[in-house]
Amino acid sequence: MKKKGTKETYTLADLRDWQEATQDVSPPIRLSVFGDPVVHSLSPQMQNAALRHVNIEMQYARFHIRPGELREALQLAREWQFLGLNLTIPHKIAAVGLMDSVDELPKKIGSVNAVRIAGGVLEGFNTDGEGFGRAIRDNFAIDLRDLRVLVLGAGGAARAIAFHCASERCERLVIVNRDPKKAKRLVDELHPNFTGPRVFGPVARLEAVPWDESAIRFQLANLDLIVNATPLGLRPRDPSPIPARALAPHLMVLDTVYRGGKTALVRAAEEAGARAADGRLMLLHQGAAAFEIWFDQPAPLGAMRDALK
Ligand code: NDP
Repeated sequence: MKKKGTKETYTLADLRDWQEATQDVSPPIRLSVFGDPVVHSLSPQMQNAALRHVNIEMQYARFHIRPGELREALQLAREWQFLGLNLTIPHKIAAVGLMDSVDELPKKIGSVNAVRIAGGVLEGFNTDGEGFGRAIRDNFAIDLRDLRVLVLGAGGAARAIAFHCASERCERLVIVNRDPKKAKRLVDELHPNFTGPRVFGPVARLEAVPWDESAIRFQLANLDLIVNATPLGLRPRDPSPIPARALAPHLMVLDTVYRGGKTALVRAAEEAGARAADGRLMLLHQGAAAFEIWFDQPAPLGAMRDALK
């Protein structure tokens, strides 16, 4: 099955005139990712490999949809009978209020990254937390339970990761965000999960910490895992959100960002002697979980993994 006539990236203008935009496209586009930026997304190559592997005659495409365009884009995806969507930066939080129904988990997290469209109804799901947990196991051969974790960010991905850490009963969770109010709000929401007495040393099990090198350094001795859930690293010239001098060899570092080549954080972590991985395996596992929601059958994980190599 060979793809015909698809563009690298579609826009809202294409969706408004979808029949014209896709007249040469075969098989039809019925799945997509909406984001801004989105050009870096490897979801199309991974999901198209999965569709080919299981002989489903449809394609997955990338859409550059700006924040003010999300409502109309979702409406049009419904009209054109799309079957499923992924939402990436910056749409995951706004999308919650634009669904017809929202599964219990994304309602609690306040973030939707996967949408199923069945009978014209938009149903919101979140597979980021599950994808994150499986990526930690896949990259570092360890479970989250009992780990001491620092998450950079308090947006859609960070919220899913933080709630997953809480549900997996990690030992300690530190949230660091550029806007400290959002970090504090997330910590307040997670508080009921961290009331137990288990703790190594005199540090709090759950806290929001300022986005500040000295404050992060102060945490190092009481952390096992650092996760970047901000977009810092997407652009080749982005600095590492944490410099190598503020990292240490005992740490595991997961950058949810991925791009061609190592991200600045992965380079900084390796320089500090820490174990580090980028976001490809999280992409794989959250994408496999979304595939299973759309098609109600096991995702062809091997084919999807090969497509990301
Ligand atoms: P959101 O827009 O919901 O949240 C963005 C977060 O990043 C906010 O906490 C924001 O802070 C912070 N941020 C944005 N710009 C900067 C900056 N210049 N410096 C410091 N902090 C910044 O986006 P998502 O949560 O959906 O996505 C975040 C990133 O996570 C994406 O770039 C994506 O690459 C990655 N991701 C990867 C996945 C994977 O499968 N590998 C899955 C999901 C996400 P503030 O609140 O202060 O604005």
